[in-house]
Amino acid sequence: MKKRSSPLHARSLRAWLKHLAATDRLAVAREGVSPEYEIAAIAKKLDGRQAVLFPRPAGHSVSVVSGYVAARAWIAEAMGTGESDLLAAFRDASENPTKCTEVPASKAPAQQVVIEKPDLLELFPIPRHSEHDSAQYITAGVIVARNPKTGAQNVSIQRIQVKDGRRLQALILPRHLSAFHTMAEEMGQALPIAIVIGADPLTILASQAVVPIDQDELEIAGSLHGAPLEVVKCIGSEIRVPAHAEIVIEARVLPNVRELEGPFGEFPKTYSPAGQNQVIEVDRVTHRRNPIWHTIVPAELEHLMLGAIPREATILGLLQRSFPNVLDAHLSLGGTCRYHLYVKMKKRRESEAKNVIMAAFGAHFDLKQVTVVDDDVDVHNPTEVEWAVATRFQADRDLVVVAGAQGSPLDPSTTLTGRIDGMSAKMGLDATRPLKYEGHTFTRVRVPGEEAVDLEKDINASPQAVLESLLNDKG
Ligand code: MN
Repeated sequence: MKKRSSPLHARSLRAWLKHLAATDRLAVAREGVSPEYEIAAIAKKLDGRQAVLFPRPAGHSVSVVSGYVAARAWIAEAMGTGESDLLAAFRDASENPTKCTEVPASKAPAQQVVIEKPDLLELFPIPRHSEHDSAQYITAGVIVARNPKTGAQNVSIQRIQVKDGRRLQALILPRHLSAFHTMAEEMGQALPIAIVIGADPLTILASQAVVPIDQDELEIAGSLHGAPLEVVKCIGSEIRVPAHAEIVIEARVLPNVRELEGPFGEFPKTYSPAGQNQVIEVDRVTHRRNPIWHTIVPAELEHLMLGAIPREATILGLLQRSFPNVLDAHLSLGGTCRYHLYVKMKKRRESEAKNVIMAAFGAHFDLKQVTVVDDDVDVHNPTEVEWAVATRFQADRDLVVVAGAQGSPLDPSTTLTGRIDGMSAKMGLDATRPLKYEGHTFTRVRVPGEEAVDLEKDINASPQAVLESLLNDKG
């Protein structure tokens, strides 16, 4: 791939917000909005259209922002690429990481202010989001941790319940952070973590990369930027965090303790039930002067896009290893950007789409429905995909069903006994046309020259005058 570098305004949250403001994509709310549902409600109204900054919510001195990575086009723009090259560029960055550059604390805005033994609820206006959430939640906490055995860093976002400002509960799904915690637990130790709030848009995106366990996602952020990410060592641990972040919460995940966490409104737009989950003790907070708190409104576009793009890039990469004729992959919005995948391919052999379906199900357990279409169908347009299913698919021949496989632990439809069990059927739809067919059976209707029409030239600007003169029957 050709060398790509992100614009400078994608290098910190502040620079990015200034850029959004200059291009009419940042709304500023009135002062004093309540963190209790009101921030989430306003941000949700503007989701995907404008990010929203909330100055001094409920009289608090710290501002809140939401929705600054809420559109595919914005993410492409931050990466300095076009939407059509977005997945390839993300994949390139995750396969070619860039080592971080360490800066001293004096050059790290994230450590301008240090507060020992803080109470997060006093320090920050942490929002409560959905109606049945158990408490206020940190929803945009980018957690950095080190593998207790190898020292390699991992970066991920987990939801964190803040019922008490010093002792938090988190749902840590079974991936890398959870593996680190298990290792620490086996040694009878707490796992040090840093919860980073208010990183630049590309660092947040990089945190969602689906890469091997000992690959530091901050190095992917460096490649997305096209320049090494500046990091600083945490005060109380060996963890390196983005030096330009707004806020860093230094904490520990305790060993062998679980407490009630949830319910919490999640990405499927339903509630994930309460459960006994990990416990985090807060040691200190460091932050910039006048820090900005970031909150992601659950199930809204910022949440969905952050999950979708890195997954699409990974799944597409995996599919293309076996099927170089796969051209694009898209996780549809209606499928919560997790469950329904549309794949575009140039089929070489009959039935090949079924192999692609099986490969996709192997790529990520969240996938529940895979629809494969030909290269004349736009997978970013659900109406187009439905058209392909309507005209190129027969259920007795083209449907693949796998019963009782592992599914998403947050999918409410996996409930058999009243509890979500995560056992899920998989459905694959081969909506590709046969390679050989008679006449124009499967040819898309097209009017010659339609693409070349220039309405500026071909359409008269004063229709009423022309109509009057054409309909003039006075003689
Ligand atoms: Mn990881």
